[in-house]
Amino acid sequence: MSQVETLSFATETRQLLKLMIHSLYSNREIFLRELVSNASDALDKLRFEGYSDAALMDGGGELGIEIECDPEAHTVTVRDNGIGMSREEVIANIGTIAHSGTAEFLQTQQAGQTQDARLIGQFGVGFYSAFIVADTVTLTTRRAGRPDEEGVRWQSAGEGEYSIETVSAPRGTQIVLHLRDDAHEFADAWRLKSIIRTYSDHITFPVRMPAAKPVADEGEPEAADIDATPAWDTVNQATALWARPRTEITQDEYDAFYKQLSYDMQAPLAQLHSRVEGSHEYTALLFVPAAEPFDLWDRDRRHGVRLYVKRVFIMDDAAHLLPTYLRFVRGVIDADDLPLNVSREILQGSKVVDSIRAGCTRRILGLLEDMARDDADKYQRFWGLFGRVLKEGVVEDHANRDRIAGLLRFATTREATPTVSLADYVARMKDGQKAIYYITADSVAAAAASPHLEALRARGVEVLLLGDRIDEWLVGSLPAFDGKPLQSAAQADLNLDELGPAETELPPVADADWQPTLSALQTALKDTVESVRLSDRLTESPVCLVAGKEGLSGNLERLLKSAGQ
Ligand code: ADP
Ligand code: MG
Repeated sequence: MSQVETLSFATETRQLLKLMIHSLYSNREIFLRELVSNASDALDKLRFEGYSDAALMDGGGELGIEIECDPEAHTVTVRDNGIGMSREEVIANIGTIAHSGTAEFLQTQQAGQTQDARLIGQFGVGFYSAFIVADTVTLTTRRAGRPDEEGVRWQSAGEGEYSIETVSAPRGTQIVLHLRDDAHEFADAWRLKSIIRTYSDHITFPVRMPAAKPVADEGEPEAADIDATPAWDTVNQATALWARPRTEITQDEYDAFYKQLSYDMQAPLAQLHSRVEGSHEYTALLFVPAAEPFDLWDRDRRHGVRLYVKRVFIMDDAAHLLPTYLRFVRGVIDADDLPLNVSREILQGSKVVDSIRAGCTRRILGLLEDMARDDADKYQRFWGLFGRVLKEGVVEDHANRDRIAGLLRFATTREATPTVSLADYVARMKDGQKAIYYITADSVAAAAASPHLEALRARGVEVLLLGDRIDEWLVGSLPAFDGKPLQSAAQADLNLDELGPAETELPPVADADWQPTLSALQTALKDTVESVRLSDRLTESPVCLVAGKEGLSGNLERLLKSAGQ
């Protein structure tokens, strides 16, 4: 047996552990969901790697998760016969190296927004939730394919350090939680069962617990005798929900599945579940969340759709399954026509994946169209959460551009909140009005205050107020909607005549009177502006800057400048 080595946690990990131990009092039972979800991931990985290397699956019996507790010793044990970890992996995954989500999780907690443990899984730091209830955690693991003697025992009291030593161990991972004095309640089989049913019912592997009363006579249970123990009950459903017929699934089951998959606390806003037959067959169970995922704007974010092939988990951040502008969608796609040993590289060029992506994209757009038509309030919630992301679709997805354009909502000179669709706008265009007018600025408020609007306001013409960064690209990619061109109110050649006379009386202008002033201004500003003209577009402001016919709009110029162009 090798000697015990002691190593230190990364600083951020230490802060995280401190937080776990001292501040997370609500929903402490979440630790079990996190450990079960890690066990399930480890089983998924083993099954997946087992397709290219069958020897990895040798021994260990049926793939599954076992949970035991000992009320006298105050321990809870979670065990899986999955992929396991090598010594290097233990150190990298749960030791020294800080995870990318650690800082973000600390931020949300320290900002005092929530002291709620339920969020934890979203941030990729779920393992540490063990320390919410345990004052010592002992993890024993052995990587599949390595000899028994290359097992690793990791132990920590969740303070600055952990110890690590080489031991003999069966394949997979066993975690023993030595419960804190105030967490002894969790060493109770009934309690554990009910937690599993609440949070882990839809894990696709069986989660088993001893059938009779938990035996507490021999102390810590042996990791080796997965098969030897006589009676185990499976306590979760252990089926792939998406593979069941829709009619047999209740909304509660869908919601629970979504929460388990996304680590979200709320039920989703909407879902679609379809079995697609035809040239490529697949099942999609996709959800639109009711809250913004923390990494929506993070370039290194994980993707929200898990890929399965015939019920076998393949990967969980399959970037190619949906376009980027639908990155808020969570769910599962189970394809029948992909090989089980599919790699990311194969996915990238795959016709099957292209067809799945196109099909799922159309279905999600359809789902959003239905929501917009049938439940305007819900659609407003959706738009508030993900509207800015969906706008990217107008720029990126030419095939679906018109459908996405139909889903856009804007604030306008008539509606302060972003509730106006382009169809609404077109329906109330003035007689003689040919274009959809918009104005871009740093914010909707700044857009609303723009002097460029005065002439259009004076003629009773509605103008879209665009204040998001993406909007400039959006209007650049959307030349027209419903045959009506989009036209910037800041462009020089507004054809105001066709819009009829201004409703507000404008002071008469005699060009000749102004000529000396104009030439003086022109000379003074010759390096800055192309020309200085009299305008009939202002009713209140003395002056405004307009873009030339071919020129960039003022706002785009500002954006490019701030991007260093
Ligand atoms: P996440 O699951 O989001 O990656 P966790 O903190 O829950 O974050 O787990 C960290 C990492 O530790 C996992 O990604 C995995 O590599 C490793 N790990 C945790 N539990 C197990 C397990 N039971 N078997 C194998 N590896 C595990
Ligand atoms: Mg995890």
